[in-house]
Amino acid sequence: MSQPSNTWQGRKLDERCTYPGCNKPPLADNLLCEQHAKAARERKRKSQRRLRAERRKQKRCPWCGRGKRPDRYACPRCLVSLNRAPRGVNHKHEDNTGDLHADRMRADRDGRMRFRGQAERGHQPPLQLDRQDLRDARRCLDHGEAGLAYFWSPEIQQLTRTRAAEVRAAAVDHLRRARGWIDDVLARNGVKSARPSVGDEG
Ligand SMILES: [Zn+2]
Ligand SMILES: [Zn+2]
Repeated sequence: MSQPSNTWQGRKLDERCTYPGCNKPPLADNLLCEQHAKAARERKRKSQRRLRAERRKQKRCPWCGRGKRPDRYACPRCLVSLNRAPRGVNHKHEDNTGDLHADRMRADRDGRMRFRGQAERGHQPPLQLDRQDLRDARRCLDHGEAGLAYFWSPEIQQLTRTRAAEVRAAAVDHLRRARGWIDDVLARNGVKSARPSVGDEG
């Protein structure tokens, strides 16, 4: 019989890091060991940075590659997603945490995956977790509100219906995220129905 254990597939089944020549155990949520997972993340970050620089040079949206207004940092949808929608006169909120949030958001894109530092959260007292989650919820509400205001502005209303709808959806994503943080607080405080299982949402 052939010995498959050194193929990628074999390493995966053996629960060894799938990086060639590495025999360390993989991380729980990864096929790679800590060291190689870190290297892979770093490579991905670098290539994404390069891609964004390239798109910037081509005057396209650095985040999705589509068209954007020359005087805007990104396309409307990405502006709202990154909470960089131009603030209207009706929104004076000062936000010094935009970059931190944008970082988180990228981790967040696939759903409600927690951002870095989740591991530490287990050791924090409930009130501290509640405060963090409520602060995050508040921030997401602000971002959603700013996104909706941008959606209703002439700049967006003159776009095609599809592209305008994307801006609205990006704003709503912030609100959905806010609801997620609030659900966490509710669940932590004894509300049983606070976390509808995936698929329950209509
Ligand atoms: Zn490894
Ligand atoms: Zn974009």
